[in-house]
Amino acid sequence: MHSPDLRPGLLEGVGMTSQRTRDRMVERLAQQGIGDRRVLDVMTRAPRHLFLDEALSHRAYEDTSLPIGHGQTLSRPWIVARMSELVVQESPARVLEVGTGSGYQTLVLARLVPELWSVERINALHERAGERLHWLGAGNVQLRLADGGHGWPEAAPFDLVLLTACASEIPMPLLAQLEEGGIMIAPVADRNGEQWLVRVRRQGNQFERERLERVHFVPLLEGVIR
Ligand code: SAH
Repeated sequence: MHSPDLRPGLLEGVGMTSQRTRDRMVERLAQQGIGDRRVLDVMTRAPRHLFLDEALSHRAYEDTSLPIGHGQTLSRPWIVARMSELVVQESPARVLEVGTGSGYQTLVLARLVPELWSVERINALHERAGERLHWLGAGNVQLRLADGGHGWPEAAPFDLVLLTACASEIPMPLLAQLEEGGIMIAPVADRNGEQWLVRVRRQGNQFERERLERVHFVPLLEGVIR
């Protein structure tokens, strides 16, 4: 498994961004039903506070989503853990993430899978995430500024595609870029606007869909903002 340089001095931090605060977050995740040790270990080490503006970093380990600017949010720790758990269960080699955002979920995934591609449509977020991930030594991640609804054709097919923004319908190109037997994990809104985490498995040209749990994500939008 890829294991980036941890630069301990800085990552330990102080006060509300300390290792102790992070340990408490992970204990809470375990109590909330996250059972995968690999995910819990990675989240124990991942400096979530570095993925927020300084003014918010003291809240990084609370059980809540937090704004990252441009109307977008860093998902709450539980959903990052839950989605990561769903990813590692499949032991995928090649993973595409749509919605890099702050890059926190990207970092967690990068420490759990061999190769990761991640797409973001808002340039400012894409660039900041790139700086953070580079600095943290996540060398197995490639980032792209693009409308993730089109996937990443040159890197396809993927064993697993993860959406971190909610679609009313999963874009066809993303399903088409799944490997045979590949998995898609995505928040999808139903007719009443309720969002569900959905797992789709590709079997030839069939897509078996399974509804997991209620979630709350920002919408998947079209186009790129430079
Ligand atoms: N996983 C992120 C959560 C970010 S919120 C984190 O840990 O911070 C969802 C992100 O998806 C936002 O940054 C939003 O800009 C992005 N997004 C929405 N629609 C998109 C699309 N079509 N292509 C790429 N990114 C998209």
